[in-house]
Amino acid sequence: MKWFFVLSLCLFGTSFGAETSAQSSGLLAKGTDSETPWYRIESGVEGPTFLLVGGMHGNEPAGAIAAGQIRHWPIVKGTLIVIPRANHLALDVKQRRFPGLSDDAGDLNRHFPRTGAEEKTLSPLAAEIWDFSKAIEPDWVVDLHEGFAVNRQNPKSVGSTILCDATDETLPLFEHSLAAVNASVDAPENLFRLLSNSRTANGSLVRASMDRLGATGAIFETTYTDQTLGVRVRQHRLMMHRLLTNLGMIENKPDDLIFENPETKVTNIGIYVGPGVGGFGPASLQETFTNLPDEFTSRIIGPVEVQNNSITQFDVLIFPGGSGGKQAAGLGERGRKNVRDFVHDGGSYLGICAGCYLACENFPWSLKILDAKTKSSKWRRGKEVLELGFTDAGKRIMKTDRDAAPVKYQNGPVMEPAESPDIPDFETLAIFNTEVALNKTPEGIQKGSPAILAGHYGKGRVIGISPHPEQTEGLTHLAPELIRWATTPGTADSTGLSR
Ligand SMILES: [Zn+2]
Repeated sequence: MKWFFVLSLCLFGTSFGAETSAQSSGLLAKGTDSETPWYRIESGVEGPTFLLVGGMHGNEPAGAIAAGQIRHWPIVKGTLIVIPRANHLALDVKQRRFPGLSDDAGDLNRHFPRTGAEEKTLSPLAAEIWDFSKAIEPDWVVDLHEGFAVNRQNPKSVGSTILCDATDETLPLFEHSLAAVNASVDAPENLFRLLSNSRTANGSLVRASMDRLGATGAIFETTYTDQTLGVRVRQHRLMMHRLLTNLGMIENKPDDLIFENPETKVTNIGIYVGPGVGGFGPASLQETFTNLPDEFTSRIIGPVEVQNNSITQFDVLIFPGGSGGKQAAGLGERGRKNVRDFVHDGGSYLGICAGCYLACENFPWSLKILDAKTKSSKWRRGKEVLELGFTDAGKRIMKTDRDAAPVKYQNGPVMEPAESPDIPDFETLAIFNTEVALNKTPEGIQKGSPAILAGHYGKGRVIGISPHPEQTEGLTHLAPELIRWATTPGTADSTGLSR
């Protein structure tokens, strides 16, 4: 991913108080492969300087995503500085270390000056981050990580812990963060632990900052095994939210009600990554939208945000691939109602593969916001590259001159009109020109049937995509084009899209 980022300083008034906060950003390791942005939010009110880091380890995405969300939080006291994707080379390949390097040589979080040793960093990126940290003179340094197992169940991992070396003064603050995250954990065996005399790893940024900069430091750890990304991102957010609230740096509002500065003019997208979501769809969607920063923001969310109805902050909800039935079960009755209400009140819905099953009409658990039903109960048709044929409406809306294009297909729904009296008819934007029919699924029903559908539900627009253009080279622009259409008022009415 390339970051086109220019050092910029923009001023904006916050909507909660007379103070004006200033936001600036820049690049670390500028011009190198490791180039990664930092963001600084100054409240204008004297208070702590807080450095928050995510993405030190590339196989621990929740911290990077949470830090990317937290940098949008309105700061009312002190200064928050965020490096959300410290090691983006490792994040891009989803590995702990720099690509091609093993052991501590590849581990960015072992590259900082060691306790008692001379002040030495072990990679150019670590040197940049360390110089940057020294210049900031942080009072606080918190680094967001993930472990492979819950520490309470398996002490070999530090998953689901707060690692710190607390003093009498800071211990209650960390205990508060612990209580805040544990209030969200249902299973007793998954509860977080506070490891208050942890001596964080020698060579880590947090330990170096405590040793040499006099900062209060901590590492917050979620657990990446058996917990969905949306849940883990929220856990990080809950710990940080309580800590920044206790420091007076943010106002005491619920953590999931501050996804986005209300003054931004971009289209805010929530990408659901809860139970029933799998594969690479969410990551490719986030990359697509991240590369269009003037137009879109995208936030990973889980079932709690849907059930709490925090989704009203978004313009668009995306339900990616996986299992429609499991997504529905994870959302629960209340979550499903909130999604229906969101669309009915004017929000846009984009469902891809499983998310398209979820939108349709004919399952007990489906949302019934798209007037389409599946032609057969046998869904395991196979995974293959099929040909997508664009209709005239599809060409216009998705701004393509092509008649057809190859597209990745993975057991997506094969649909026909459901003719429900309660849902307006959909229009077909693309059909399947070819088909796959493995595992004794019926032959002949997929070719010619709708592959991309657009409809209405209440005031909102609903798009269902059976295949995976978001994961198909050459078609990743379709999702942004469809969202542009769905969020532009007056481009459609209840009779369809033809005017
Ligand atoms: Zn880590």
